[in-house]
Amino acid sequence: MFINGQWVAAASGKEFEVTDPATGEVIGSVPDGDARDATAAVAAADAAFAGWSTTTAAHRADLLYAAWRLMTERAGQLAELMTREQGKPLKASRAEVAYASDFVKFYAEEATRVTGEWLPSARPEQRFLVLRQPVGVVAMVTPWNYPISMLTRKMGPALAAGCTLVLKPAEATPLCARAVFEIFIEAGFPAGVINLVTAADPAPIGEVFTSDPLVRKIAFTGSTAVGRKLAGAAAGNLKRVSVELGGHAPFIVFPDADPVRAAKGAAALKFLNAGQACISPNRLYVHESQAESFISTMKDRVSAIQAGNGFADGVGIGPLVNEAAVAKVEAQVDDAVAKGAAALVGGHRLVDGDFSRGHFFAPTLLTGVADGMDIYRNETFGPVAPVITYSDTDDVLALANDTNYGLAAYVYTQDLSTAIRAFEGLRFGIIGINDVNPTAASAPFGGMKDSGIGREGSHEGIAEYLETKLGGFAL
Ligand code: NAD
Repeated sequence: MFINGQWVAAASGKEFEVTDPATGEVIGSVPDGDARDATAAVAAADAAFAGWSTTTAAHRADLLYAAWRLMTERAGQLAELMTREQGKPLKASRAEVAYASDFVKFYAEEATRVTGEWLPSARPEQRFLVLRQPVGVVAMVTPWNYPISMLTRKMGPALAAGCTLVLKPAEATPLCARAVFEIFIEAGFPAGVINLVTAADPAPIGEVFTSDPLVRKIAFTGSTAVGRKLAGAAAGNLKRVSVELGGHAPFIVFPDADPVRAAKGAAALKFLNAGQACISPNRLYVHESQAESFISTMKDRVSAIQAGNGFADGVGIGPLVNEAAVAKVEAQVDDAVAKGAAALVGGHRLVDGDFSRGHFFAPTLLTGVADGMDIYRNETFGPVAPVITYSDTDDVLALANDTNYGLAAYVYTQDLSTAIRAFEGLRFGIIGINDVNPTAASAPFGGMKDSGIGREGSHEGIAEYLETKLGGFAL
């Protein structure tokens, strides 16, 4: 762990092991922190805040640029570590490292664009000055599915704003977090500004983060259940929160869309990270007039996706994170098939040969999916594309909106009015219109409803780490 400028062991002296999800091999171990370590890290971040928050924006930008350069130079090593620890194919790891680096560069630029306002008053002898200042110590909790970009998406804007931080990465991917910290340390961030606490049991760390009065904000990415719990506890102590949570994205193919292009897009998007993405489509609504062509293209594409070790050539999806994830996907598929869906491709675990050492599920295409099936309502987080055929275009937006989630939605149409109606009518934070990659450092990412509060990326992302201060000046 990294606390107050030093690499340290856990107060307990314990460590926990990290395994490769493709092979089950132990690939490292890290300190097993507890509440004592989290409290020490928060105290270090608090002690560093006065100095760090009064550095110039230009200086903070310089350090972020230095971190960005190092990340770019080490992109290959970071990608290999990610594939080893998280399992995604090497090409996907490289793409994530590039995406993660973009946030560091974007917020190096954005640091110098935090400005105030000089406002008029109705009283002739009064002036108002509005200043934006960092919120203080930020406690961050990140997931395993994007084990580098979810860190930089928080650390970039927090550091640019002048906040200090304590980060707890997911227990499945602490080695990626350690590698990110090594880069930021080498870039020159002073002692106490960035702190890393690893733990096999996250609950005691979460309790410190949400109760310690020195923590002013919680930034979380992960499941809705845990986000709700942390946000609830933080609210009790009036801390600011931003939470990026689960999703259940609809993907709508309108009758005027090109079904082949839509199917190619759906196949590329659904199987990214083996479906372990919060913006992964979980309900593919295909108009009945397009179903045959869409499904046959999907069938070809999904059949061609090879599962395997992310280091092997030609592999399109790696393992799932653990056995519980495989069991959840299997249960959803079995439930759908028992209720009338058909598995046109896959539909089962992969257990033969090398697959037996890891957590693999076959790339799966389900047709005939309907409400009443578990998969229709609950996030899969696995490599399963569920197709629902619909007939009434007037109803499809209502069907798509009928979910507790509100993160991402996708629409395929060639009609401008249909596109605009869908863009305006879908209650989701991110809408891809004929676009399966609507995310970038410059764009606000985040959800509505049970998918979260707040945005990451863009100028909105740094606002999450700033307080507004009003000065009234009587002349
Ligand atoms: P998770 O909620 O179990 O874990 C996320 C993080 O929370 C991990 O670091 C974990 O250690 C920590 N955590 C768990 N219990 C905690 C507690 N009691 N106190 C403090 N920390 C605790 O989720 P996961 O399995 O890692 O990730 C999968 C979920 O994350 C999916 O639902 C997915 O949709 C969501 N996700 C959302 C986004 C987004 O940006 N909206 C991005 C990636 C993943």
